[in-house]
Amino acid sequence: SKVRIYSLAKDLGVDNAKMLEILDGLGVSYKSVSSTIEEDTVELIKQILEEEARDGAPAAAAEAQPQTTPPAQAQAAQPQVNQGQAQGAQPQVAAASSPTATAEREPQVAAAAPAEAEVPHRAPVVTIMGHVDHGKTSLLDYIRKTKVAAKEAGGITQHVGAFEAQTSKGRIVFIDTPGHEAFTTIRARGANVADIAIIVIAADDSLMPQTREAIAHAQAAKVPMIVAINKVDLPQADAERVKTDLTQLNLVPEEYGGDLVVVPVSAKTGEGVEDLLEYISLTAELEDLRADPKAPFSGVIIESRVDRQAGVLATVMVQQGTLHVGDFLVVGEGYGKIKAMTDSAGGRIKEAGPSTPVQVLGFSEAPASGETVLSAKNEHAAREVIGARASDRRDSENARERRKLTLEEMMGELGETRTVNLILRADTQGSVEAIQGILARKESDDVKINVMLAGIGAPTEGDVLLASTAEATILCFSVTPSGGVKKVADTKGVDIKSFRIIYELIDEVDRLLKGNVEPVF
Ligand code: GDP
Repeated sequence: SKVRIYSLAKDLGVDNAKMLEILDGLGVSYKSVSSTIEEDTVELIKQILEEEARDGAPAAAAEAQPQTTPPAQAQAAQPQVNQGQAQGAQPQVAAASSPTATAEREPQVAAAAPAEAEVPHRAPVVTIMGHVDHGKTSLLDYIRKTKVAAKEAGGITQHVGAFEAQTSKGRIVFIDTPGHEAFTTIRARGANVADIAIIVIAADDSLMPQTREAIAHAQAAKVPMIVAINKVDLPQADAERVKTDLTQLNLVPEEYGGDLVVVPVSAKTGEGVEDLLEYISLTAELEDLRADPKAPFSGVIIESRVDRQAGVLATVMVQQGTLHVGDFLVVGEGYGKIKAMTDSAGGRIKEAGPSTPVQVLGFSEAPASGETVLSAKNEHAAREVIGARASDRRDSENARERRKLTLEEMMGELGETRTVNLILRADTQGSVEAIQGILARKESDDVKINVMLAGIGAPTEGDVLLASTAEATILCFSVTPSGGVKKVADTKGVDIKSFRIIYELIDEVDRLLKGNVEPVF
């Protein structure tokens, strides 16, 4: 009989990523870990694992050798200026790519370089997005109520922007500000906090404008999505319709042969919530999320506020390394010393490792959400990092000017396909469809048009943030942005163009396609 990949992995005591690696090696095709495989294949996999266990024995012994400590010390002794420079220029790349790269090489290098292969797994960070009233807050509340250990009496739960749920499959960190605004604000600064996006869709309402927006945001961030069809307890719930509607967006649920995980839930009765948590852990395992608690610290500001008594309270998500009370933190071109830390349940803590949200007391000014945070050994080192950043910024401002030209030249020479990213906003569904129809015919081999989001109504701040991260132009037909949205667009350098005549809008698209416009970096 057939077995599902993830249950086989569980039975054999290996992780899903390993199982998929073996299947790839065997040339067996699958859609996702929920796909089923034949019994013959199961036998083959068992044989491979047995062989590996025999051959792998000496490697395991080598791994067990005591690990040398000097590298960690050497790292700690170095002022963290280098890292500051590297990360200042490219906040996420260094932190995000190295653990993954290590993980991929793991089987081969395990014996040779044990220290490198031992970067431990970290808990996934999850964000919940979706249309208003579809149940984002209720779902977060249900999970918090059932999965967060009760604190000591007298503790006041205060909003810190994230919480940690304990599940049978391990810890899951939830970003507590539902909606994609928070997600995109953080991303707009170059940071990616969420590993997985849960798109909540009410079973009695199906896909709505903000559902599409949430999906566009997750896709733009290349964050894996899980759909939670909520309110399945309602008599008028129609989960099948939601699935069919998703298919029209080219998001095909697993049971229809696609690879989108769809979980029916009720935030009211709790039905399906366990399944949802399990799928989150499964997805996290596939993503093979790792971070080294011994590496130099880096994190991201989730949110911050000024408390009249306590002063500035900032929630920091630890992404790698470990944060200690007394550390100096550098954010942007400012710094602070950690006077006190609390975990998301309000308990005092002295240190915090990867994928832990902590509320930190010690900044003199409230840092903005999405800012990258690094630590320095002492005040002197903190100042050095800031100094390095300031000169870095000046350098990159100069370099940007130069790079603009070379990139344009390169594209001209290589004849590479260009993609023009657009966000469309119009007064009616009819106009949206009409414009999309015309745009589809404008594509050529050289230039592709990617409509990231097409919606009814005036552009929102979220659109501007999405446009800013994706270098998209916002085109409006018969709708105009509010003053506030225009202002954000100005500061982010995002173009919003409004038209009342469809052909003028199309002319603008033609100009964009010709590249007849200053590229935005
Ligand atoms: P949000 O705007 O997405 O955060 O949605 P809320 O969590 O505020 O929920 C909107 C409304 O739907 C509230 O009245 C909730 O009580 C209700 N609601 C949320 N989840 C469920 C559910 O699973 N079943 C039912 N029957 N009602 C729900």
